[in-house]
Amino acid sequence: MEVKTSLLDNMIGVGDMVLLEPLSEDSFIENLRNRFDHNEIYTYIGSVVISMNPYRSLPIFNPDKVEEYRNRNFYELSPHIYALADEAYRSLRDQDKDQCILITGESGAGKTEASKLVMSYVAAVCGKGQEVNKVKEQLLQSNPVLEAFGNAKTVRNDNSSRFGKYMDIEFDFKGDPLGGVISNYLLEKSRVVKQPRGERNFHVFYQLLSGASDDTLKKLKLDRDFSKYNYLSLDSAAVNGLDDAANFRTVKNAMQIVGFMEDEVQSVLELVAAVLKLGNIEFKPESRCNGTDESRIKDKNGEFDLLGIEQSVLERAFSYRTVEAKLEKVSTTLNVAQAYYARDALAKNLYSRLFSWLVTRINESIKVTRHKVMGVLDIYGFEIFEENSFEQFIINYCNEKLQQIFIELTLREEQEEYIREGIEWTNIEYFNNAIICDLIENHQSGILAMLDEECLRPGTVTDETFLDKLNTICAEHQHFESRLSKNSKYITDHSLPHTCFRIQHYAGKVLYRAEGFVDKNNDLLYRDLSQAMYKANHSLIKQLFPEGNPAKVNLKRPPTAGFQFKASVGTLMRNLQTKNPNYIRCIKPNDKKASHIFTDSLVCHQVRYLGLMENVRVRRAGYAFRQAYEPCLERYKMLCKRTWPHWSGPLFFLEERRRQCLQNLATLIQKIYRGWKCRTHFLLLKKSQIVV
Ligand code: ATP
Ligand code: MG
Repeated sequence: MEVKTSLLDNMIGVGDMVLLEPLSEDSFIENLRNRFDHNEIYTYIGSVVISMNPYRSLPIFNPDKVEEYRNRNFYELSPHIYALADEAYRSLRDQDKDQCILITGESGAGKTEASKLVMSYVAAVCGKGQEVNKVKEQLLQSNPVLEAFGNAKTVRNDNSSRFGKYMDIEFDFKGDPLGGVISNYLLEKSRVVKQPRGERNFHVFYQLLSGASDDTLKKLKLDRDFSKYNYLSLDSAAVNGLDDAANFRTVKNAMQIVGFMEDEVQSVLELVAAVLKLGNIEFKPESRCNGTDESRIKDKNGEFDLLGIEQSVLERAFSYRTVEAKLEKVSTTLNVAQAYYARDALAKNLYSRLFSWLVTRINESIKVTRHKVMGVLDIYGFEIFEENSFEQFIINYCNEKLQQIFIELTLREEQEEYIREGIEWTNIEYFNNAIICDLIENHQSGILAMLDEECLRPGTVTDETFLDKLNTICAEHQHFESRLSKNSKYITDHSLPHTCFRIQHYAGKVLYRAEGFVDKNNDLLYRDLSQAMYKANHSLIKQLFPEGNPAKVNLKRPPTAGFQFKASVGTLMRNLQTKNPNYIRCIKPNDKKASHIFTDSLVCHQVRYLGLMENVRVRRAGYAFRQAYEPCLERYKMLCKRTWPHWSGPLFFLEERRRQCLQNLATLIQKIYRGWKCRTHFLLLKKSQIVV
């Protein structure tokens, strides 16, 4: 309870923004800065935790701190992510309420670190038996495995998650973990074949080449030198503070703890090696008698030694494309550019399927039947780059949905509670991003639906035809909308480069380049390639390309990438809505990845788009503090004579205002003790009734 602030005289700034006086954007940011400068990286807005990335290790995450926060009321100690984890865990264990921890913020703001802190806190405070410890270890060790394969160095973050992750941790009735289920969302697979300047491929490639023994590399026919591989960018291969070799050992050890068999680990490494070697296959044109050029593989020097696939089979798959209609098969030859395209498509598919297989395999180890559940969501943050493509579009769509759920749940929850309790409530103005979600996902006129329509349309389909369609329909829609509201979020203006479109997201305007949208959404792999993969003498690779089985010819088109993503985000949102949400809003203090620097404008931008000011206003307009009567009485009984036999008189040593507030509270406690009947089930205190 907020009374604690009076007891913690050494509190830096204001620990709960609800109590900030006066409240303005400037004072909000000043309070964050003041606390950040004194190593106080956590600040509350009621039960929401704002987390500032310190970019250095602080001595506030250790077993002593865990003990300090364990079983304590949320507001009792200074703000900490452990307090949120403890609250969520105890509600799950004692009140049987499924929980979810929603961690949001932009790339590099500290989401993944926050998710690991929550997991490690819960692991530290729950049961300790041998079986329980094994489960805990497996759950925790799934992190390094997935980070090795799904994270990469980007300009914004040296360990950027390039996939979305939602993990349900499942507990028994005593609150001991039984296992979990991980869901992964759209890995940024384009990174496998090409990385932006200053960025790297996924960590695992560098880890394998740096950390594997000479013997392992020899067996995999790999060279330790990164520069030998086309798919590994050179300008940023070594990253300060990142020890690839040591991390390789950590990952191998983690795979073992999670339950991977020796031969499975070997198969996984073989696939990683195969991707690197695929990238080194080069093509040359060979003239045919009809005057056209056909691609042929250049110097066959060992790259072909891939996964037991016969050289001729793979070579053919890179030279021809067969289209199967109902009754006939038509083969066309590939030119050099098409062959490179096919090679890269295969590498991307191989890697992303391997990633999904890893998630499935981890789930096999940790899956149990559902009991009580705590979900932890760590999904890629909002991205605004100079060049934004399909991946950013999808990532930003997902962030819009999360913002939507934040708005809905924080406001709805608040409103519903007041209505339930029969208390008057005045609405607070806030920006509702439902209109942007609709612009993207509306099943008829949404951008994803139009993209799908275009991808499935017969005839020549290009990114330009998609963009034309978008401009025409959205402009019409916008025209129509403008009569209804001035809020259209699809911006067409003549200053835009002609291959681009722009969306006014809740977090800012983003310019998307339409190039690649159709192809990435189609996500098709030539059948010749999947059939070649299926012929591999390698059980894992066969398993990853089931559609290559000639006995199972399926002429139905697989769903598009956009369609699949929208469906999985929909499932995720429904899942989250059934749980009690706990929010961690991560903020990045500067864009230099540096400690001790707090850039006001950058923080201000994040505070705005995360809707934190609205969040505080809603909390302040309502009741800043609520607690059910019984625990409240239990907690504050020492404040009055009737409930505490050792009571020794009013607290004269306190200054007048604080003493007055505590006396008011004592009166309330006395009333509660007497069985005070009122219309609410909670003790609700307005901000003015709380001691600061
Ligand atoms: P992305 O969306 O790119 O995955 P993210 O929000 O998950 O970004 P993190 O990877 O969690 O960002 O954090 C980026 C880096 O910031 C970490 O690698 C670490 O160096 C530092 N960092 C984040 N949180 C903390 C913390 N609590 N203590 C110390 N350093 C931290
Ligand atoms: Mg991350």
